Amino acid sequence: MTWEELEAECRQCQKCELGATRTNLVFGVGSPQAEVLFIGEGPGEQEDLRGEPFVGRSGQLLDKYLAAIHLDRRRNIYIANMVKCRPPKNRDPKPEEQDMCLNWLTAQVKLMQPKIIVCLGRIAAQRIIGKEFKVTKEHGKFYEHNGILRMGTFHPAALLRNPNQKPDALEDFLALQAKIEEICESTYS
Ligand code: SF4
Repeated sequence: MTWEELEAECRQCQKCELGATRTNLVFGVGSPQAEVLFIGEGPGEQEDLRGEPFVGRSGQLLDKYLAAIHLDRRRNIYIANMVKCRPPKNRDPKPEEQDMCLNWLTAQVKLMQPKIIVCLGRIAAQRIIGKEFKVTKEHGKFYEHNGILRMGTFHPAALLRNPNQKPDALEDFLALQAKIEEICESTYS
């Protein structure tokens, strides 16, 4: 299956109840050939309206961190979410919704074959890295699984609520930059 075929199939998805209330399905943004994949939680209001992940205030903050280490959401990374449709009133996606949506993300990872996955926030980190993952304690550490390095850091919305965590988040992005320079071939070329 090609990336385009996967996206077209995903856009028809009604596997869970979130499909009924979405305005737009948010498949992701960026280059499917990227070596670095960012995974967030799920679309919020702005993301649902525009069909793109991280486009509100938290998205602007994420773009600043990305720019600080020469990453660009349209050029050398890909950004996706644990669930592709907006949970009403921005509640956490339910475990069963995550379970049903995970197939799409798994298929994206299989086609992309990223070298590094960065989990933005608790929901993604606990699903992708480990169910006991604590962002405040384990952020910025890399864990290898199935040949892919996985790292969790703060969700940008959490940084807007707790700006005192911004220096820690910057450290995580700088650690990511060093790891990209070490193991990625095309991200900075
Ligand atoms: S959230 Fe995922 S599983 Fe649920 S309808 Fe949307 S794409 Fe399908």
